[in-house]
Amino acid sequence: MKLAVPRETAPGERRVALTPDAVAALVKSGIEVMVEAGAGAGAFHSDADFQTAGARIVPDAATLYGEADVVAKVQRPTADEVNRFREGTVLVAYLQALSSPDLVQQLASRRITSFGMEGIPRISRAQKMDALSSQANIAGYKAVLIASESLAKFFPMLMTAAGTVFAARVLVIGAGVAGLQAIATARRLGAQVWGYDVRAAVKEQVESLGAKFLEFDIGVKDAEGAGGYAKELSAEAKQKQQEALAARTKDFDVVITTALIPGRPAPRLINKETVAGMRPGSVIVDLAAETGGNCELTKPGEMTVQHGVTICGPINLAATMPVHASQMYARNVTELLKVLVKDGQLKLDFNDEIVKGACMTHDGKVMTK
Ligand code: NAD
Repeated sequence: MKLAVPRETAPGERRVALTPDAVAALVKSGIEVMVEAGAGAGAFHSDADFQTAGARIVPDAATLYGEADVVAKVQRPTADEVNRFREGTVLVAYLQALSSPDLVQQLASRRITSFGMEGIPRISRAQKMDALSSQANIAGYKAVLIASESLAKFFPMLMTAAGTVFAARVLVIGAGVAGLQAIATARRLGAQVWGYDVRAAVKEQVESLGAKFLEFDIGVKDAEGAGGYAKELSAEAKQKQQEALAARTKDFDVVITTALIPGRPAPRLINKETVAGMRPGSVIVDLAAETGGNCELTKPGEMTVQHGVTICGPINLAATMPVHASQMYARNVTELLKVLVKDGQLKLDFNDEIVKGACMTHDGKVMTK
């Protein structure tokens, strides 16, 4: 079986799907690995490092895809890349299948068997394959660093000869994987931190990190839905939530938003009136920028100042830390491959909930969920 690792082509993408360490383990297990020249450069892995790990370096994507049985990527492929895959190729990537119906259709019609890392169920057995979590951890950490750099204040409390400086007050809205990492990171920097979420189970997790849980009544006790994800709120609950947050956000120097609902636009939590009510100099970091933003005034990929508030809408933060992001993603992919490949051959067991959850196309068909 020939496993191919291409150079990522998306602008700003510096991660690579497999690192030399991961390649060495796969080669040892009997898989032949090909790596496109320069694929690891963004994450500081040279072609020589991959060669030492046992991979064969191929000069370009056309040669790579012409031979590959399995392609491991970070970002979803472009239409042009899909056209270059051989019929029957197996693809593993972060496909964002729910928001890419055209890509999924194209993969099916090219008879590609595709696995979306985002479809792997959030169950204990699949934790090592959970790329959503590994990459969200990076985003949560980086969001706090962006906030601290943009804030014209210290994060920690300081008692100095020049007087006392009070700790910054940070609110993290949405306390899933990214949010909990943001809370932990802001705490380490010495800020006073609050967390908020619509899932009731989160309160204990927020408090276990030494942060306080922000509570207000929106008429819904617990909005946890299938798979541990949040459900979309009713129009009335959304309205109450926006009003409650408008009243509370003025107390904070930094608001980091991470709220997402799978397959839906990001919930709108902070409207323009709320921003206008915040203290000048405050900072909002909106991690939902890519899917519409939790804040009405967020501009994806930009940092703007509106009503005196700095609003950051960073995109693909995981790619800004390509060494650890690639290391963790490579581990996630390797663990998934262990489920898909037995004795060097592809063996797909569709009774396995991991295979069923992650498989987006197979045998010319879209595998509807
Ligand atoms: P996510 O990225 O889908 O959403 C981020 C957070 O936003 C979630 O905590 C969600 O509840 C929250 N949110 C959504 N709408 C909101 C709103 N209107 N207001 C406030 N908050 C809102 O979530 P995620 O980080 O991918 O985590 C999803 C779930 O999966 C969590 O329960 C997490 O603990 C669980 N998980 C389980 C495993 C495992 O057991 N293997 C691994 C990772 C995550």
